[in-house]
Amino acid sequence: MRLSLVVPCFNEEAVLARFHEAVRSESAGIADEIELVFVDDGSSDGTLELLKKIAAQDPEAKYVSFSRNFGKESAMLAGMKRASGDAVIIIDADLQHPPELLGRMVELHKRGFDQVIAQRNREGDKKLKTAVARTYYKLINKMVDVKLVDGVGDFRLLSRRAVDALLSMPEYNRFSKGLFAWIGFDTVTFTYRNAVREAGETKWSFGRLLNYGVDSLLSFNNKPLRLAIYLGFLFFSISFVYMVWIIVAAILHGNHTPGYVTTIAAIVGIGGLQMFTVGVIGEYVGRIYYEAKQRPHYLVKETEAGPLRHQSDFQ
Ligand code: UDP
Ligand code: MG
Repeated sequence: MRLSLVVPCFNEEAVLARFHEAVRSESAGIADEIELVFVDDGSSDGTLELLKKIAAQDPEAKYVSFSRNFGKESAMLAGMKRASGDAVIIIDADLQHPPELLGRMVELHKRGFDQVIAQRNREGDKKLKTAVARTYYKLINKMVDVKLVDGVGDFRLLSRRAVDALLSMPEYNRFSKGLFAWIGFDTVTFTYRNAVREAGETKWSFGRLLNYGVDSLLSFNNKPLRLAIYLGFLFFSISFVYMVWIIVAAILHGNHTPGYVTTIAAIVGIGGLQMFTVGVIGEYVGRIYYEAKQRPHYLVKETEAGPLRHQSDFQ
């Protein structure tokens, strides 16, 4: 069996060499051949130089270097496209995904599982972050159509047909957690102890996490749009009933001076609701806009075979 490891790297010079060593020593013998596909996601540090070095001394190491930072989703996609193995494992470069688990993943795959998911517990995470994450997953699972699980990320093994399924999905807005869940196939999950980053720092600022949360909500269903319709209908019904009531009251008892407060409250309330609704619709229109442009997910600058002349040369 041939195994491919896909490693997205964005400014990881501090850990790359250690990662390479750890993976090579931990994974020896777990498959007949093990290919390493590094993806340099437009790093501005010495990541690319290190990858060149690694590719020069390790005949089974390849790399793809992007023209700029396109994000981890794009990096994983390029890595999977490049990977030639019968199974692919996506693993972070920062050693937060313990390489000693690779053997177990391959074993489970051999027992017939298409997706082998390593789920991390939240040991060592800040209490607040854990609490926020818990609430997020509770809420999100009420809203989206696929099931998302806390601690389950991109660290997983995918069989060849699962990879092909992912590659066949051309959408521009890629939300992997959702895509992985969407493709299905026989899936097994095991937990491991969370590890802190070996060196370098996380690329997930609060703002980025917030955007991720909104993405996850919008990229997998149209429930927010549905919600907008229901809310609009609810408010319309209330104001309609209220109007009928006022007219009837005016006919029966004559017109008493009506309150401004009611009017203003209604205008502000409904105005706010409209803005919210337009915002939701705008988000979807924005997504359609991006999809309609059909831009590539990434641009490749070079691979271990040298600089790329035509993007179509990258397969
Ligand atoms: N990464 C990437 N492109 C990005 C951000 C991150 O390829 O724009 C890579 C990064 O190098 C690492 C993995 O994705 O290998 C996970 O990133 P990070 O460790 O920052 O995330 P965390 O573990 O904090 O969730
Ligand atoms: Mg990390």
